Amino acid sequence: MAQENPSVTRFREYIRIKSVQPDPDYNSCIEWVKEQAKEIGLEFDLIHFELQPGFAVVLTWKGSNPDLQALMLNSHMDVVPVNPSKWSHDPFDAIKDDDGKIFGRGTQDMKSVGVQHMEAVRNLKAQGYSPQRTVHITFVPDEEIGGTNGMAKFVETTEFKKLNVGFELDEGGPCPTEQFGLFYGERALWQIKVTIKGNTGHALNFVEGTSVEKLQKLMNGFLTLREKEKEKLSDGDVSRLGLVTTINITMINGGLQPNVIPPELTAVVDMRVTPNGWTEEKAEEIIEKIIEESGSDITYEFINRNPLIPETPINDENPWWRCFKRTCDELEMKLLPMICPGATDARFLRSKGIPAFGFSPMNYTPMLLHDNDEYLEEKIFLKGIDIFTKLVRNLTEESL
Ligand SMILES: [Zn+2]
Repeated sequence: MAQENPSVTRFREYIRIKSVQPDPDYNSCIEWVKEQAKEIGLEFDLIHFELQPGFAVVLTWKGSNPDLQALMLNSHMDVVPVNPSKWSHDPFDAIKDDDGKIFGRGTQDMKSVGVQHMEAVRNLKAQGYSPQRTVHITFVPDEEIGGTNGMAKFVETTEFKKLNVGFELDEGGPCPTEQFGLFYGERALWQIKVTIKGNTGHALNFVEGTSVEKLQKLMNGFLTLREKEKEKLSDGDVSRLGLVTTINITMINGGLQPNVIPPELTAVVDMRVTPNGWTEEKAEEIIEKIIEESGSDITYEFINRNPLIPETPINDENPWWRCFKRTCDELEMKLLPMICPGATDARFLRSKGIPAFGFSPMNYTPMLLHDNDEYLEEKIFLKGIDIFTKLVRNLTEESL
C-alpha cells in the first residue's frame, strides 16, 4: 500500500484527541499544536486571559513588513458530543475506509481546517516563500458553546490588538456540489419570552378578554411574518436561508386546571434576524407591533438578543475580497457566497470592524456538521491544503 500523505496522518492524529464538549481535552490539543509549530518553525504563544478563565493559542509567522495588517487563520479546537452507537466507526479513531473517507468528529467541524491552515504555511515555508504580511494561526476553545471563554474574550484583550489583524478566515461549511461555500455574514439570534395576562373565570362561560384569545392573535402575527419570510425562499434553496429571517414559536406554557380560564400564558419566539435588509430597529418595531395588536396586558423580555453585525462586503471596495476572489478564480473554483444561518466565531471579529469570511474548502461533501458519521474525503482535505497555500501566499502580499 502506498505511503499515506503526512498531512493526512497529522489530520487523523488531531481527530483522535478527544476535545469533545462538555469536557474537552484542550491540554492535549495545545501540546499537539505546539509540537506542530515547532516542526514548522512558527512562534507559539498560549495566551491566558487576565483575571478570567479562557485562553487562545497563537502561532505566528512574521512578515517582512510587520507594520502591515496581518492575516489571521482561526479554528476552534472543540467538537460537539457524539452518539457512538449511531456511528459506523469509532468517532475518535479517524478510520480511513477504502474510498479514502476519514470518519471522525471534527473532520468537517473544524479540525480539518485548523490542520489545513498549518499545512499551507508548512508548504510555503518549504517553497522558500517569505510573506510581507504576518500570519497568525489561532486555535480557540469553546466555539461550540458560544465562545465565551474563547474568541468572545480574546478579541477584547490587548494581546489580540497587538496582532494587528486586517482580515480573518474562520469556519465555513461543506457543499455537496462543485461549489465552495463562503460565509460573509451571520444572522443574529433573538429570543423573546412573551407573557400574556387575561381575564380568568369558570370555563363554562364566555369570558371576555382571555389570555388565549390574545395568544391566538400573537401567534397569527408571528406566523404571518414567518410565512412572508418563508415565501422568499420558495425554491427551497437552503444556501439562501441566511438571507431571510426565520421566526418560530418554540414554547407555550400556562393554564391552572382543565376548568379554569388561564389568567396567564407565556410564549417563546425564536428569531434569527438576517442582516440582509433588516436592522435591529426594524426587528424590534415588528415585535412591538405584533404585541400591541394582540391586546392589552402583554409584556415581553429578551432571553437572547445578539447584536446584528454588518456583513463583510463582497465587492471591489474590499481589497481582501478582491484578493480572495482572484485567488479562487485562478484555481477555477466556483464560490457560493452565503450568510451563515447559524453563528460562528467570525462574528466577534466582524463586531470589531475586522473583515472576516467563513471558509472551509469542502466541495462535493455532504453537510455532516454535528451529525453522525461525520467524514471528510482524503482528496478533498488535501485539495483544501493547496487552496489555503495559494490563499495565504496571495493574502500576505503587501498589495492585495
Ligand atoms: Zn464549528
